[in-house]
Amino acid sequence: MLGQFDEKVALVTGAGSGIGRASSLAFAREGARVVVSDISPEGGEETVRRIKEFGGEAVFIKADVSRANEVESLIDDTVKTYGQLDYAHNNAGIPGRTALTADYTEEQWDRVININLKSVFLCMKHEIPRMLRQKSGSIVNTASTMGVVGFGTGPAYVASKHGIIGLTKSTALGYVKDGIRINAVCPGNTNTAIFAYVKEKLPELYDNVMAATPIGRFAQPEEIANAVIWLCSDSASYCTGHAMVIDGCYTAQ
Ligand code: NAD
Repeated sequence: MLGQFDEKVALVTGAGSGIGRASSLAFAREGARVVVSDISPEGGEETVRRIKEFGGEAVFIKADVSRANEVESLIDDTVKTYGQLDYAHNNAGIPGRTALTADYTEEQWDRVININLKSVFLCMKHEIPRMLRQKSGSIVNTASTMGVVGFGTGPAYVASKHGIIGLTKSTALGYVKDGIRINAVCPGNTNTAIFAYVKEKLPELYDNVMAATPIGRFAQPEEIANAVIWLCSDSASYCTGHAMVIDGCYTAQ
């Protein structure tokens, strides 16, 4: 059976775990050749292994997305490896420390902003010229419900995710006539390593977060990946500059 992304190439950052691993697998199932990128070789190689297990095509390229030279090399190596770049899921991110704003150190702030927000700028800066040459492409940036609402002890994370939405809208407008669509996904609480950790170490917080989630469960990473795939697909041909909330009604309250 033909996949909707046969002959296409997708790049996913933060692809060694959670949502990025799920979108990498989903791109590959649709027929795309996938560049799986992460700072963690173990996680990234495991994602590649899972893709190859069902006959998909993927390669791991290590990159720290907060470093300009590594991002530039990542996009260059993607094109050297597979000849083109059709889809990018700029997804790598960290939660950072939870603390009130006045208790946040400058170093902690810079780390979260660099890994979560600057990285998305760097990725798009190098992805877009390639897509312009092809006169087509679709980019999805991972924001969060925390890009739409606040969280008292997450100033840097919340600022980084609000920033991603603003950056997504501005960049989408800038290239709206060039055949490149740029959107964001805003996941609610999703069952990934972050929540496995919270469940084990901070059960009270886990229960509180669950109680505040109207649908009564956390998302599976695949439910976020499905939205990424749709946003990249031709079915979303008129959708650009959008921040799609996928949160089991969390922000509807
Ligand atoms: P995860 O920890 O399972 O995966 C994140 C991946 O990013 C890891 O493999 C990690 O190695 C990689 N990474 C971290 N720093 C990196 C760097 N500097 N360069 C390259 N890779 C790096 O987390 P996840 O839940 O899958 O998160 C993916 C994205 O989704 C993040 O941007 C996160 O903020 C966002 N998000 C997650 C949730 C949730 O509830 N899990 C909710 C909203 C948004």
